Amino acid sequence: MKKLIFCSCLFLLAAGCSDNQSSEPVGNTADQEEEAVNEVSAAEKENKEKESVSDEEATDDNEKEDEEAIQEEEIKEPLYTINEENWSVQPISDANEKVVLLTIDDAPDKHAVDMAKTLKSHDADAIFFVNGHFLDTEEERQKLKEIHDMGFAIGNHTYNHQKLDDVSEEKQREEILKLNDLITDIIGEKPKFFRAPHGANTDFVKNLVKEEGMTLMNWTYGYDYFKPYMDAEKLKTAMITGEGPEVDVPYSLLKSGANLLMHDREWTNEALGDIVKGLREKGYEILDPGLIKTP
Ligand SMILES: [Zn+2]
Repeated sequence: MKKLIFCSCLFLLAAGCSDNQSSEPVGNTADQEEEAVNEVSAAEKENKEKESVSDEEATDDNEKEDEEAIQEEEIKEPLYTINEENWSVQPISDANEKVVLLTIDDAPDKHAVDMAKTLKSHDADAIFFVNGHFLDTEEERQKLKEIHDMGFAIGNHTYNHQKLDDVSEEKQREEILKLNDLITDIIGEKPKFFRAPHGANTDFVKNLVKEEGMTLMNWTYGYDYFKPYMDAEKLKTAMITGEGPEVDVPYSLLKSGANLLMHDREWTNEALGDIVKGLREKGYEILDPGLIKTP
């Protein structure tokens, strides 16, 4: 029955990341997310009318490099903010407006390291939103360290990919802080970004994330979690055009400041290099997340 109430656009934006490779039920949607999505839909309409891991093994040289990299990150002046109404990226003053932000959720599972290498080879930045349940083993932790060492921003996506509006505040806190501690142990710094699974934020989460000095964001569009786009060629076209006609988005969601949701998935991994190239051919700069303002 819920299908009747939710418009397909809402379905697209709200389904978000899933634990497995099938898309999420439509009903898994936070109120706030609905509001944000409605605003996006309205705007669309308007337009139409008009390190614990290998610390011991690390050499002094490596440690020095890490320190230098961290210092470099810290001195960047923030040039962008996240618009909390629609989750797009906005320039603070005269920074280039024509940017897109790449984000990879549910990492580091099977493909995140390959995806990081692909991005690196294209000199493209991204945020990897990670889960604690992908960081159980030494090998998995090493993957996270490798991604961070390549220069990518690491975001908190909760410990167990928990839908936060379903659980107590105590549990919400644990899901976020326990993962912050684990990430800090592995890469030597706290994550600066937070994204709730399914975009299901609560007021408690929003406050906690701010207190922790992290920037919270959902996303503006993504297609790799919909059946018709679980295919590299189709996904590539959808991400570059912003259009997902097979999930009832026959218009483009690609615009300046678009916050692109992708996942650690086989077809996304395969399409990633071409997605970066295609977006650049359209004149978009791939944003360095280090330029986004944090609390
Ligand atoms: Zn997710």
